[in-house]
Amino acid sequence: ITSLTQAGSLASGLETYRDSSASVDRRVEDLLRRMTLEEKVGQMTQIRVGKLRGDCNFANGPLRDDCMKTVLSDAHVGSILSGGGDFPVENTPRAWAEMTNGIQRYALDHGRLKIPVLYGADGVHGHSNVVSATMFPHQIGLGATWDPALQEKLGQSTSRAMRATGVFWNFAPVSDISRDTRWGRYYETYSEDPYLAGSLAAGNVRGQQSRVDDTAQLTATAKHFAGYSQPLNGHDRSPAQLPVRLLQDTVLPSFQAQFDAGVRTVMINSGAINGVPVHASRFMLQTQLRERMGFKGVAISDWQDMRYLVDRYHVAPDYRAAIAQSVNAGVDMAMEPSNAGEFTTLLLENVRSGAVSRGRIDQAVRRILTLKFDLGLFEKPFVDPAKADAIVNGADRALARQAASAGTVLLKNDGVLPLSPGARKIVVTGETADDVRRQLGGWTVEWQGVPDDYPLPPTATVLTGLREAAGSVVHAPDVASAVAASADADAVVVVLGEKPGAEGPADTETPALTAEQQAWVDAVQATGKPVVVVLLTGRPQVLGSVADANALVAGWLPGSEGGRAIADVLFGAVNPSGRLPVSWPKLVGDQPLSYDQLPGANTSATSKYDPAYAFGHGLSYTTFVTTGLTASLSRDQVVARFTVANTGSRAGSVVVPVYVHQPVSPVAVPEKRLVGYARVDLQPGESRAAEVTFSTRQLAVTAGDVDGDGRREVARSAYEVVVGAGKAGFTVR
Ligand code: BGC
Repeated sequence: ITSLTQAGSLASGLETYRDSSASVDRRVEDLLRRMTLEEKVGQMTQIRVGKLRGDCNFANGPLRDDCMKTVLSDAHVGSILSGGGDFPVENTPRAWAEMTNGIQRYALDHGRLKIPVLYGADGVHGHSNVVSATMFPHQIGLGATWDPALQEKLGQSTSRAMRATGVFWNFAPVSDISRDTRWGRYYETYSEDPYLAGSLAAGNVRGQQSRVDDTAQLTATAKHFAGYSQPLNGHDRSPAQLPVRLLQDTVLPSFQAQFDAGVRTVMINSGAINGVPVHASRFMLQTQLRERMGFKGVAISDWQDMRYLVDRYHVAPDYRAAIAQSVNAGVDMAMEPSNAGEFTTLLLENVRSGAVSRGRIDQAVRRILTLKFDLGLFEKPFVDPAKADAIVNGADRALARQAASAGTVLLKNDGVLPLSPGARKIVVTGETADDVRRQLGGWTVEWQGVPDDYPLPPTATVLTGLREAAGSVVHAPDVASAVAASADADAVVVVLGEKPGAEGPADTETPALTAEQQAWVDAVQATGKPVVVVLLTGRPQVLGSVADANALVAGWLPGSEGGRAIADVLFGAVNPSGRLPVSWPKLVGDQPLSYDQLPGANTSATSKYDPAYAFGHGLSYTTFVTTGLTASLSRDQVVARFTVANTGSRAGSVVVPVYVHQPVSPVAVPEKRLVGYARVDLQPGESRAAEVTFSTRQLAVTAGDVDGDGRREVARSAYEVVVGAGKAGFTVR
């Protein structure tokens, strides 16, 4: 077959790398041997689109040939990105497609070897830089769905929208775990639990990378490898101290789940772990990522991070040395090294001086070319701008609504919910009741959220959603009007949120509702009317007096259809089934907080796990009971079987978390660890058998003493599966 292909290529005069019938490996090797060193280091470079247009330095405007010459021809750059905010002047799908096609056209017309450009962007909740795209809930709200199949659908939808605009690399999902509500990127994570986060991220990756039409494929990104969500002081990109057990047992498994799902790229953590910037860590990028975890794809730096080895971390004397450190550690591509020519020149100097070997360059470029061939970019480098608007605008609104309601968590309900659509009067108030920017959060159009003077993405706010659901909704824009309007109301809905933002600017020392927000709720509460508080926040907020409201609903940052989804839950059109993917703290000082803290002298109220609402909490309008738990082990698979019954009077869906408890262990382990979960839909009175299978390998813990080397082992011991109030034992021998 090989020689036939070769003969075919030769007969048609086609170089092997351009022959789509040749294997990817052969195409890569053929192309690699034709490339100059300059062309190779260009492939290792990704530059922001702002350098190709306007004034060649981020001013917006049309693409300019002289800017493209500097970047694409002179520096041979192989990848372009839109960071949060790099959209075309006219931010339409069609304009995006024309922009990416324009860049591709230039690269193919002027490149000696006609290597297509790979364009990347942050589609972190839908194709979220495009103002007319459907914004899905942010990841924290998706974490509350406990539904990997739903993540797969959302991933497919995002992929379809991005590909329609010529963006084939999505810097999502975030695989970091949620541990500290002070951190400005908390809302970008799925869960505090490694298994839940990993299973949802893997679903999203499968969806994003699936083949759904005849354009090239998209690659997802597992980011930010690894330990980025653990800044010791809660501030973005500040140093993390990660004991080997925390790294191995808690931080890395969600990445492994995505590697197993085939994610093609990883983005490296900007931060430093134990004093070593990850961009310069051979241990993290070689031993861990490649040797232990088996990742084969492309490792891209985060924004300008090679330079930060000099400017921030002072582990390199100058930029050239920093580039050598980072490339030698294992970074294959530099994201926005700010000046393409400077970066490629310094990298070439490193190769010529022997600081970076030619073999290492070939290894990185081989991975990058493999990615481009695998995605099909050589065959399908262009997209059809005429189709882009129809594919993107308003797409999958029903899916967005479903995702938002599935992730809505009913934290507390004294019976006021569901509201009756026939209510005489419902007052809606709170600063976030009708505020699109706050509802959509950061990474919407721009990284800090929709700019003040910018058109708003089409969005149903909670006010809109409630008005559509009931005829008698009155909007009270401030406290005084809310109190006055409440006098003859059946219920008052107060919608509270937080300022949109991302990264450092979204960090907070006080992840708590403000005094003004509490006063707002207190004032309507004092009217004696039932008060429902809806929290549209990217993190659990310490509630203060708001904890006393009659009902509390966590809607997170629910996206374009969020208001309708909240209305669906408040009026009972959807019976809530969201469950907390994170612990809801009682006090600001509880950070960092997670249910799987290790046991010890946790006896006082302040040191034991004592959150306002626990991981996995979530109420329904019906009641469920789980009975008859059994566990059976065969080889390394454990099957937990149980029966779930709906004992209430409404149809509903229930998430059943399956935990494992280990009564005696060689080193301390959490009281319980999540190993799987099931979602069961039940009519009133109905009961169903369910089962969850998990591998004993999930029970592995970093073994050894305090100075353990990171190897993980499954202890031979007795274990118990824990489901609801039931327990069933099994023994690993
Ligand atoms: C963020 C990444 C993002 C990149 C490109 C960085 O500041 O840390 O998550 O993908 O910008 O926008």
